[in-house]
Amino acid sequence: MNYGVIGAMPSEIAGIKEHMENVQEHKAGSLVFYTGQIGQNTLTLVQCGVGKVNAAITAQMLIDKFNAQAVINTGVAGALGKDVKVLDVVISTEVVHHDADMRLYKKYPPFVDGFYGDPTLVARAAAAFEAMDHGNSHCYLGKIATGDQFIESSAVKADIVARHNPLCVEMEGAAVGHACTANGVPFVIIRTMSDNADEQGGMSFDAMEKVAAKYSSNIVVAMVGGK
Ligand code: SAH
Repeated sequence: MNYGVIGAMPSEIAGIKEHMENVQEHKAGSLVFYTGQIGQNTLTLVQCGVGKVNAAITAQMLIDKFNAQAVINTGVAGALGKDVKVLDVVISTEVVHHDADMRLYKKYPPFVDGFYGDPTLVARAAAAFEAMDHGNSHCYLGKIATGDQFIESSAVKADIVARHNPLCVEMEGAAVGHACTANGVPFVIIRTMSDNADEQGGMSFDAMEKVAAKYSSNIVVAMVGGK
């Protein structure tokens, strides 16, 4: 299998790159793609930058230029689900844009109102989490909401929950899911909580980003390292 793996920030790809063998670097436009092996699989790893447009463009490049057959988006997120805590993991069964009018998306071709994580990739990511030493972390399967802002407000958080009822919020997943769905390529989003998307969100992010990013990376490495 040829996987494309996207992280937005350096912390989100570092823990994967260190496990890759025979790494080759390819520059394409302003991006750097790393192709190599983990176990029996080939992967192309890339840091896309923060936000939806960066993520969508990069997913398309992975598919067109690097023949990605499946795309994994790995990283950190703000917890929204009632029981979801910092360092818990959320794996996408579905991703939505919380800052776009999905009712209009649904009304016109291609009639999308959400993007669905591939069940096999979701199951493989969940199995990888279960098999690793995950301390007190829990893994949840469910909906992720994506938008082009860092959420650090209880009021904004409550509004996103009221409209979409997701487990977590981040800034790239729906764009990756959107691009992959348009191309007919399976995808999954794997996020470890760095914060609670509330007034302490920025501080928590700063403290937890690296350790949370590593959790998600470990899941990706275990998933891709298998058959
Ligand atoms: N406070 C940081 C924010 C960086 S952007 C800063 O000012 O530099 C946050 C990144 O982590 C994005 O790539 C996003 O996908 C994810 N993320 C983590 N917590 C988030 C939150 N509460 N809201 C939105 N995105 C979040």
